[in-house]
Amino acid sequence: MTSVLGQTEWMLLTVATTHQPATDLGYLLHKHPDRVQHFEQSFGTATVFYPEASNERCTVALMLDVDPVRLARSRGKGSPDFSLAQYVNDRPYAASSLLAVALAKVFSTARSGRGGSRQELADRPIPLEVNIPVLPCRGGPPIAHRLFEPLGWTVDALPVPLDEGFPEWGGSRYVRLRLAGQVRLADALNQLHVLLPVLDESKHYWQGPDEVDKLMRSGDAWLPTHPEREFITHRYLGRAGTLRREALARLAELGDDLADEVAPVEDEEVQQPVEKRLPLNAQRHAAVYQVLLGAGAQSVIDLGCGSGQLLDRLVKTAAFSRVAGSDVSARSLQHAAARLRLEQMSERQADRVQLFHSALTYEDDRFAGFDAAVLMEVVEHIDPSRLEALERVVWGAARPRVVVVTTPNSEYNVMYEGLTGMRHPDHRFEWTRSEFAEWSEHVAAAYGYTVQRRGVGEVDETLGAPTQMAIFTWQEGRDER
Ligand code: SAH
Repeated sequence: MTSVLGQTEWMLLTVATTHQPATDLGYLLHKHPDRVQHFEQSFGTATVFYPEASNERCTVALMLDVDPVRLARSRGKGSPDFSLAQYVNDRPYAASSLLAVALAKVFSTARSGRGGSRQELADRPIPLEVNIPVLPCRGGPPIAHRLFEPLGWTVDALPVPLDEGFPEWGGSRYVRLRLAGQVRLADALNQLHVLLPVLDESKHYWQGPDEVDKLMRSGDAWLPTHPEREFITHRYLGRAGTLRREALARLAELGDDLADEVAPVEDEEVQQPVEKRLPLNAQRHAAVYQVLLGAGAQSVIDLGCGSGQLLDRLVKTAAFSRVAGSDVSARSLQHAAARLRLEQMSERQADRVQLFHSALTYEDDRFAGFDAAVLMEVVEHIDPSRLEALERVVWGAARPRVVVVTTPNSEYNVMYEGLTGMRHPDHRFEWTRSEFAEWSEHVAAAYGYTVQRRGVGEVDETLGAPTQMAIFTWQEGRDER
């Protein structure tokens, strides 16, 4: 392959595991190890096969054969792959971007974390080795280290010589990449989906707003906390400054640990003070924490606890004698358990803490018996038709003395320059202040609570604060249970 540098017509990526039985890889990828499968793409053919499949080690290969003629045909303006047009204009094509597109399509189920009969395995890190013999990498091996090492990979990136016969000609812009680590398979696939084009800096073709959604979907488990998230966003979204700002605003909303400031994005367009908004997540946690302390709550349940950032804070506070978290996402709960170091906790500590898997739209006895419940940035993830069920479950059945709810203030969204839709692709709605007021008054009245509202984050005189919070307090004497 090195002899055709610059006009590479095919690319190869392999993923191997030594988890035993290694052939479980086939279940995780939803691709049978005994079969060679072809997947036609608008720009060529992706082939999946297993060069080895034993109990000890199993390797899957994804080979992409780019068909320049088909690729050129997909350039028409009305064609679904119009966005690929620039691959053709810019240089023959950016093969690594096409490889990333093919990988995303061919392994879409595995990427979403669904492991079928091997769900338990799909949910946890396993020993993985990724090999890409020839990969365009602008900036050379140091860039590969910067991008993959923070994700837990051991990186081996060797420059590919321009011509093996003439080492004095130096390196090409290609590397041979090998990654080894204990990584969840879905995470590895999503990381490759984003980072292959980032290494190549090849995504500077026409960008639609859904590019940001794609980045969020593939990146949500690892990008918000990646130290190079800005660089990645920058390269992934190319010169589209507005999209970059939208992406950074959304990452800030997602990011668990983004209390630190991010430098403003360099751009030819007018600068928005992006960095001001980033501590919002931290401000929200602090505000909720203060309310819980102020309310004298001793036992707290965090409903939709996500990766457990608030729980971590609560567990470290002696005033809270019992702390629980629940979420509908098993994956989030694993992150929470890891964050809290549940397994290393002393028995006495562990007795204070409980994590469990549950959906908020179904009654569950385990939600009851707490002084306070938190629904931080959760209600907007619930389908409007299921909100009533959640209200019944939380205010009706679990009935804690205090319920703290936070949710975005949609009026404030205009402050996020470039944000066209909602703040997160999974949001089912975002409320204005009056909508939130109406909903919270209705819930309070229906279940015998009083409610107070306030803003969290920097207040804009006309738009209000970016986050809105409601504190429901159960009115003594009116409990009808
Ligand atoms: N409270 C956390 C996470 C907010 S993200 C924080 O503020 O950082 C929203 C969370 O709600 C996700 O973890 C999601 O899995 C969870 N969630 C969404 N729908 C849910 C449902 N029906 N039942 C329980 N949790 C749900």
